[in-house]
This record gives sequence, structure tokens and C-alpha cells, in this order.
Amino acid sequence: MHREQEIQADLRPYLGDDQIAFRTSVDGFLSRHATPDYVRECDEHKRFPQQLVDGMAEQGYFAVTLPEEHGGVGGYLDMVAMLEVLGYHSVALARYWNMNVNMVGGALARFASDEIQRKTLPLLAQGKAFFAFALSENGSGSDAASLTTSARPDGDAYVINGTKMWITGALQADYFLVACRTDPDAKPHDGISLFLVPKDAGGITINPIDMLGGHAIRTCEVVFSDVRVAADMMVGPLHKGWRQLSTVLAKERVALGAICTGAAQAAYDLASGYAVDRHQFGRSITQFQAISHKLVDAKTLVDASRLLVLRAARLLADGEPCSAQASQAKTFASDAYVQIATNGLQVMGANGYCMEFAMQRHFRESKLFQIFGGTNEIQRNIVARDLFS
Ligand SMILES: Cc1cc2nc3c(=O)[nH]c(=O)nc-3n(C[C@H](O)[C@H](O)[C@H](O)COP(=O)(O)OP(=O)(O)OC[C@H]3O[C@@H](n4cnc5c(N)ncnc54)[C@H](O)[C@@H]3O)c2cc1C
Repeated sequence: MHREQEIQADLRPYLGDDQIAFRTSVDGFLSRHATPDYVRECDEHKRFPQQLVDGMAEQGYFAVTLPEEHGGVGGYLDMVAMLEVLGYHSVALARYWNMNVNMVGGALARFASDEIQRKTLPLLAQGKAFFAFALSENGSGSDAASLTTSARPDGDAYVINGTKMWITGALQADYFLVACRTDPDAKPHDGISLFLVPKDAGGITINPIDMLGGHAIRTCEVVFSDVRVAADMMVGPLHKGWRQLSTVLAKERVALGAICTGAAQAAYDLASGYAVDRHQFGRSITQFQAISHKLVDAKTLVDASRLLVLRAARLLADGEPCSAQASQAKTFASDAYVQIATNGLQVMGANGYCMEFAMQRHFRESKLFQIFGGTNEIQRNIVARDLFS
């Protein structure tokens, strides 16, 4: 059976005809515009894929999952149908979409005032305003609730001071969704509030950081020095930011699982196609069991990742609790992606290690998914709590 037909057979119990047709059309668009050369050049030259982002916006992809009244369309099953294909063609682009629409757009749609929603969401849906999600700090990563960036009330405004780390897409962002401590005396989880801070608020410095992968969308340090933001830019109730963040982070894990599944499929396709054509000792290297078993394991991991992601996405779409299932999907799919990229590189020998082929990028980018969006150790803690407490 052709690969796409096989995948669609797995998708059918979860996705409707419209969602599968949507997946096919996104795949067609990206096959034409996110060519391997374009994606490689953006990564090599640390160049933001502006042309591709503009094209995606024109297609209406930045509207997926946003509320209809603000120009949005579709739900979480459409999201995973799209993200798997985005991850297949460009991991960086898929992460950018997730951070803008699923995380910040999702938080604004659920918790922001009507005025903020009216001002920002239609622009996001059209790809005319972009966001960054600023939670992590040097001292607070996995223990995110220990953050120290402060927001101090001052008349009808708040004044923000602190440094956020590892902020994806900060250079392109028009707004930052910033998690701040608003009650220094409360328990860590109880004194946090979220603010939507315009980049031109004054007092914001952005410093790109060199990372192992994901070069097309730079990761940055963002320093807030006496940044004054109107009190009505608070997103959700005062001191309740942690509860809002928890809903955002669970949705992120489903999305990251979908991205890893697509990216792992791409790494598998590359390795298996290469292995069929590569001949040594007078035969295709797929005839050596050491190679064919690696490829069989890779295919099994991709298929299993897809099913775990679809299960979590279905629960999310139905409004059911899915925190543990989202963590399982994210952990499994990212571990699978790392294993497939590592073995795929081995299957391709020196060409796997060569910058000309995409496998080295998968090797670098896959590792990221075991770290961000909550490390896989933290995800396992979440599942363990669900099982045993
Ligand atoms: C490329 C990239 C992009 C990112 N983008 C963003 C972004 O846009 N916005 C943002 O806010 N953040 C972002 N992050 C930050 C990311 O969310 C954090 O890196 C992540 O939460 C882990 O925090 P840490 O790196 O400080 O690791 P630490 O928390 O210091 O953890 C170090 C190690 O200890 C382990 N560990 C810690 N606590 C426990 C525990 N209780 N049980 C078991 N093991 C534990 C961890 O799993 C890890 O292996 C990004 C990170 C990267 C690498």
C-alpha cells in the first residue's frame, strides 16, 4: 500500500473526510513551498522562513483552532492533522505555528478580555500579528512556578522586571505573553499572573542564543527592564496565571506529539528510501538484517506515535481530561523521533552525517523535543501522578 494510504487508514477512526482532505491540501502546499533546499537554507543561514509563513497565512493556516468570531476555523483534530504534515516538511515552522496559535492564541481565546481578543486574534488568524510565550527563566525551567520576573502595580499599569530565557520566535513577535510574579508572599503557584506585553512597550531587549538546532526560528533571551504595561493587558484574573498556564501546557504536549510524529515519518522515509537504493557487497543494504530491523522498528515507532497522538487529540477535542494521555503522546513521540533520527543517521553512513542531507537536522532537532514543552522526565512524573496518587 502507498505510504499516504496507509497513514490515512490509521487516521480514519479519528478524523473525518474533511480533516483528511485538509491534511492532503496542507501537504500539497508544503510540498511546493517548503522544499528541502528552502528548509535547509533557512536552517544553515539562521534565516526566518518569512515567505513560507506569509504563504501559510494566505492559506488560512494561522486561523486553525481560533474562535470563529475572530476569524478562526477548525478544532484540535484539524490541528493534529495539519501539524503532523507541518512537522514532516519543517519542524521549525511547525513549532512556530504551535507557539503562536496553539499556545498564545489559545490562551488569549480562553482567558483574555474581549478587547484584547478583538485587537489581536483576527490579526493572528490572518498572519499579521505574531507572539512569543515567555515563561522560562535561568533559575526556573522544570520548576516553572519558581519564576522571579515581577510585575508591580503602579497606578493604572504594571511595571515588569526580569529576564526570560529560551524564548522561541522573540525576534518576530509583536507581543509577548509573559508570566510574572504578582504576589511575592504567596506560595509559588498562587502568585503568578499573565500579561500581554507589546514589543514596542519600551524597555525590552532581545538577545538571540546559539542553539544546536531550530535555527530558522531563533531562541532568545528577553530582558524586561521597567517595562510599563496597562493593567487591562493582564490575561485572566490576578494571581491565577498558573492555572491558565496548565491548560496551555497540556495542549502544547498534544501538538508536540503530532509534530514529532510527522518529523519522525520524514526521517524514516529518508532512511528507508536511501537504504533501498544504497548497494554494498552487491546488494541493497535493506538485505542486511541489521539495517532492515532498524527500519522496521522505526516504522513501528512512527505508527504507534501517531495513534497515541490521535487518542490524546480526540480527548482534547471532546473536552475530556487528557493531561496524562498528552504527556504519554509527547514523551513517546519525541523519544521515538530521537531514536529514528539516530538510527536513520547510522543507516545512511557518512551521508547521514553530511550537511547536504536532512538527517543531520533531524538528529539535532529531535533532541530538542525531549527537553522543551516540559522535559520527558517531567512528563513521566505527570503520568506517574495520574497512575499512582
Ligand atoms: C530550543 C528551545 C526552545 C524553547 N522555547 C521556549 C519558549 O518559547 N518559551 C519558554 O518559556 N521556554 C522555552 N524553552 C524552555 C524549556 O521549556 C525548558 O528548557 C524546559 O522546561 C526545561 O527546563 P531547563 O532547561 O531549565 O531544565 P531543568 O529544569 O534545569 O532540568 C535539568 C534536568 O533535570 C531534570 N529534572 C528537573 N526536575 C526534575 C524532576 N522533578 N524530576 C525528574 N527530573 C527532573 C530535567 O528533566 C532535566 O533533565 C525552550 C527550550 C529550548 C531548548
